Amino acid sequence: MNLHLIENFLTEYSEFSMRPIVDNAIIIKGNFQRQLYHEDYGTIDIDYSLLIHIPFNYPENQPIIYESKGAIQNSPSNHINPDGSFCLGSPLRLKILLKRNSDFKYFFENCVLPYLYAVTLNVQQKEGFAFGELEHGTTGLILDLQDFFHLKDSSQVYQMLRILSSKKKVSNRMVCPCGCKQRVTQCNYFQQILRMRKVLTRAEWEEQLQLI
Ligand SMILES: [Zn+2]
Repeated sequence: MNLHLIENFLTEYSEFSMRPIVDNAIIIKGNFQRQLYHEDYGTIDIDYSLLIHIPFNYPENQPIIYESKGAIQNSPSNHINPDGSFCLGSPLRLKILLKRNSDFKYFFENCVLPYLYAVTLNVQQKEGFAFGELEHGTTGLILDLQDFFHLKDSSQVYQMLRILSSKKKVSNRMVCPCGCKQRVTQCNYFQQILRMRKVLTRAEWEEQLQLI
């Protein structure tokens, strides 16, 4: 990976520093004490020890982030993955975000800080996550895709992913996922397919299909 992608982050957040490199990732550690503000939910104080793994093939693979002093209980309601890392959103949304801007500072501010805000509020008030909560596991992934594609059910999502992960020549002859029973090219929904082909590559859509 290009170390340049983490420079801005290390400059802006000087409480973090790089540790010796392990396996296949760059490790960044720091004690992170801040006040975070959200216009609807107000100001909260956070105090966490964060351990950040940035894989060598970042931004292709996503950063993995842990709280290392046990300040966030390892439970699904806190959106902590079974391995103890933060569940920062669906792989699809994270992938799209990293394609838009692969600077780690951008990722931290747009994925990690909102997560820390929401999890802290959840720990303090036990009222669930303040914003955008995705169901766990495959169900959540499919619902996210359904919403993203503007489709109605999981079979339509699968058909859409088959179309997006096939070569254009083949996929343009497939049946439209919207339920109209026409060929994709004969339906208005084809515009949506054209848009989605610009969001991710065919191989990247194929990855999304493998995930569900
Ligand atoms: Zn259609």
